[in-house]
Amino acid sequence: MTTLPTSTAKAPPFGTVPAPSMVVAEAVRGSFGPARTEPMGTLAIHPFAHALHYGSACFEGLKAHRGVDGTVRLFRYQRHVARMRRTAELLHLPVPPEALLAGMIRDAVAANLEVAPASPGALYLRPLLLGTDPNIGAAAAPSADALLLVLASPVGDYFAGGDRALRLKVETDIPRTTPAFGEAKAGANYVLALGVTRQARAAHGVDQVLFAPDGDVQEAGAANFLLLSEDRLVTRNLDGSFLHGVTRDSVLQLARDASLEVEERPVRLEEVLAWPGEAALAGTAAVLAGVGELVHEGRTHTIGDGTVGPVTRRLREALLAIQRAEAEDRHGWLTPVDGTEPA
Ligand SMILES: *Cc1c(COP(=O)(O)O)cnc(C)c1O
Repeated sequence: MTTLPTSTAKAPPFGTVPAPSMVVAEAVRGSFGPARTEPMGTLAIHPFAHALHYGSACFEGLKAHRGVDGTVRLFRYQRHVARMRRTAELLHLPVPPEALLAGMIRDAVAANLEVAPASPGALYLRPLLLGTDPNIGAAAAPSADALLLVLASPVGDYFAGGDRALRLKVETDIPRTTPAFGEAKAGANYVLALGVTRQARAAHGVDQVLFAPDGDVQEAGAANFLLLSEDRLVTRNLDGSFLHGVTRDSVLQLARDASLEVEERPVRLEEVLAWPGEAALAGTAAVLAGVGELVHEGRTHTIGDGTVGPVTRRLREALLAIQRAEAEDRHGWLTPVDGTEPA
């Protein structure tokens, strides 16, 4: 039986607890067969599989939240479906039909309802798509066979250790990803950023790296970057250079709802270093995390007073309140899953 993160016990680290069921579908010569729900377990995969050699692998990350009424609801899952389809296209993988992937995500929640923790915990969903053509000669050809999985994991409060503001190293030389892959949620992007991130951690004791090639601010290694003040939110406009976060989009909407002026435009590093307000990182795992310090050219720049700012806190609370079904879901972001889905 899976151990649930609870408020009394120390929760296991994010992503280390597999939920009991997973949902699986296979594509053969480009077309996907039906989905089935199986017990979580190891995969049988041909050692010649394309993904293992040539990086044809991508994923998604989203959450289902247990509301104050006990109902479990997916948060904006159609957005994640659309984004995975976009990533699959960029990787020249078979693109899962929208209805298939959406149904698999709902099935994965329905099959794991009993391990969906109460807020601030959540059931994290991890769709995964792998190219499985058994051909190690196909380095320059796409994989027409694929394996699609939706995995689940009960997760605790990301801020269980307190909501200390983050310290980021600014990287102006090495890009996070190749230009063609900015929008792709591909494992390859993470391994590309790994060396820079490890080195920054060791040298400067930072939490993450903010990628700003030649001073052009893109995003952090796994989260979007926002500047905030009492009346404004500034963030990079959607282009091919970074991952278009669902959390980013949600926070922008909540900022507009709260009458902040939202500016989506290129952001220069000089503006960030001189910004008088707050800065934050937005992503599904951490929701909205305050940034307190930036390390650039060996100097530490404090943002605001170096702590998690009030606007960041308010926007994070507004988002969490919707996810807990405590506040009205004005934008239709939640989809209840009641366990009666065909499994
Ligand atoms: C997943 C991810 C994000 C955050 O996206 P959300 O949809 O908000 O979870 C941001 N940047 C990168 C590089 C990512 O992989």
